[in-house]
Amino acid sequence: MIKWPARIELAQLPTPITKLERFSQRFKDTTIWIKRDELTGTEVSGNKIRKLEYCIAEAQNQSCDTLITCGGIQSNHCRATAVLGARLGMKVHLILRGEKPDVLEGNLLMDYLCGAEVSYLSQAQWSGHEDLASELQARCVSQGKKAFFIPVGASDEVGLWGYIKASEELNQDFLDLKMEPEYIVTATGSGGTQAGLIVGTELLGMRSQVVAFNVSDDAAYFEKKIRGDVMLWKQRYNQEFDESKMKIKTVEGYLGAGYGVAGPEIFDGIAELARIEGIFLDPVYTGKAFHGMVAELEKGDAGALSGAKNVVFIHTGGLFGVFPQQQNFRLA
Ligand SMILES: *Cc1c(COP(=O)(O)O)cnc(C)c1O
Repeated sequence: MIKWPARIELAQLPTPITKLERFSQRFKDTTIWIKRDELTGTEVSGNKIRKLEYCIAEAQNQSCDTLITCGGIQSNHCRATAVLGARLGMKVHLILRGEKPDVLEGNLLMDYLCGAEVSYLSQAQWSGHEDLASELQARCVSQGKKAFFIPVGASDEVGLWGYIKASEELNQDFLDLKMEPEYIVTATGSGGTQAGLIVGTELLGMRSQVVAFNVSDDAAYFEKKIRGDVMLWKQRYNQEFDESKMKIKTVEGYLGAGYGVAGPEIFDGIAELARIEGIFLDPVYTGKAFHGMVAELEKGDAGALSGAKNVVFIHTGGLFGVFPQQQNFRLA
């Protein structure tokens, strides 16, 4: 039995799982399903809220009244934290990578609307972001406040619980649908979603294999990051878990020019799925992972998803990141 830690229920759960009826017709033997984690909430849309349910519970256990976290200018994770902070009456301080843009749009607009305080660090200064977080924590203490630090993407041994819990939900979905997919596919960026799904499916004895498409870094990075976080999780929560059984499968080749930079094929893919199914992907995460999944399925037995009859794609959100890149769509 899994010994769960404290959690605050913040997400709209369970999220639906839907079959891509029309899109799947291009494959002879494969049906694609979407786990609709973009529907975890309107403002808090996406995967980060599942992890934050555990991180914020931990913050409150430690009597913290302030949340500090960090990410890119259009970070979905920072936006989710800003929204949840406002909802729970906690102050939020964000450390964002880059210069303050002239136009506040997408996720960043929402950060400001929710009253988050924002500090910007240039790319060159970014390696010092955790030092700045420590300084801000010290400043809070001097003001009689207490701040909890959540690392990039809430991907640490606390946030890991989010997608362990989500695996339980998927397990129930598969029972209800009388369908056990060969693969569960996700985008991976800071590694916590991938890690949680790997640990969760293993703990629950699910047969589906987790396959991630990296949208930053490389497969070696995720191998190391996930093993490290799982070790910390085992220690912190005194969990029995045989990490030698973990299969960390990260498929490279679909990152493109870099994190947050997508080529025309990604924008075309987003437009196509919107047109055929009315489902919106984003150019930073889900658009790239979905594109990679389709390309691997098209390779058949030679691809990373060989023998796939049913594939479940985790829609991890990201809608608000579409708008700051709207000029890249090729619309007639
Ligand atoms: C953060 C994010 C991811 C990646 O999840 P990680 O747990 O950070 O690897 C995927 N999709 C979207 C939309 C995200 O915001």
